[in-house]
Amino acid sequence: MPELPEVETTRRRIAPLLVGRTIDAVQTTAPSYFFLTPPAALRTALGGRRVQGLARQGKYLVANFDDESRLLLHLGMTGQLFSSAVTSPRLLRVSERGILAPEAQQRFTPDEHTHLRLHFRDTGPEVFLRDARKFGKVLWLPKGARSERLDRLGIDALEATGEALFAASRGRSVAVKNLLLDQSVLAGVGNIYADEALFGAGVRPTRRAGRVTRAEYDRIADALRRVLLRSIETGGSSISDYIAPDGADGAYQDERRVYARTGESCLACGTAVKRIVLGQRSAHYCPSCQR
Ligand SMILES: [Zn+2]
Repeated sequence: MPELPEVETTRRRIAPLLVGRTIDAVQTTAPSYFFLTPPAALRTALGGRRVQGLARQGKYLVANFDDESRLLLHLGMTGQLFSSAVTSPRLLRVSERGILAPEAQQRFTPDEHTHLRLHFRDTGPEVFLRDARKFGKVLWLPKGARSERLDRLGIDALEATGEALFAASRGRSVAVKNLLLDQSVLAGVGNIYADEALFGAGVRPTRRAGRVTRAEYDRIADALRRVLLRSIETGGSSISDYIAPDGADGAYQDERRVYARTGESCLACGTAVKRIVLGQRSAHYCPSCQR
C-alpha cells in the first residue's frame, strides 16, 4: 500500500508532468465508487484548466488549478499515477509478460483499470491514473470548497514533533503503534514506517501510547522523519503494486530493519525479529532492542 514516501515520490516525479500544462480532455472509465465526483462532472470541470501546483497532504495528492479549484487523488492500495512515456514491464498484465518480446514490453496501453486519462493541449505525454483494485479515489473541489477528508487529517508525518505526539497521546490507552497509524493524529504513516520508526526509537509497538515518555516521543519523531526521508530518497518501497510514475522501482525495501523480517536476526543485536498481531495488523519488532 502506498504510504507517505510513495505518495511523496509520486508527487515529486509527476509534478513536472502536470504543473504549467493545460488539460485539453479527460477520459475516464464508467461511473463507479472510484469517482467521488462523477466522470461527466470531472470532464467538464477539468477541461481547459491549467495545473498550478501539485501538493501532498498525508497520503492525498492535491492538484491546484488556475480557477482555484482542486483535484484530490488517493492512490488506495494499488493506484499508479504515471505518464504515457513510462516504460516498465511491471505495468503489464502478468499474463502478457511472458508472451511479449522484451522490446514490446516497453509500452503501456491504457486498459480497463486506467480510470483517469489526462490529455494536454501541448503535444507532450498524457498522464494516467490506473488502479487495478480500485481502492483509490478521485474528488474535484470547486473554489473555496473544503474537504472533510483533508480537514480530518492530523499533522503530516514529515512535520511530526515529539512534543505534538506526546500531547496527542496523553490519556490514550491504545498501543503506541496504533496511535502512529491513526491518520487523525499523524497523516501518512502506514504499517511499514510505523514498525521501522519504533525500531529506530527503541520503543515496543505494544506499549500504551499514554505511557510512552516525552523523550521516547522525541526519538520516535526523529526516527519517523529519518525513515520517511530515506525512503523518499530511494524512491519509496516497491512491496506490492507500488510503482514509481516513471517506471522505476523503489529501493527502500532493501533497507527494512524489522518489517516483514520475522525470525531473521535483528541487524543491531542478532535477536530474532518477532511478529505479533496488533489491531488486526502485523507488527514487527526486536524483543531486545525495543522496550
Ligand atoms: Zn535487536
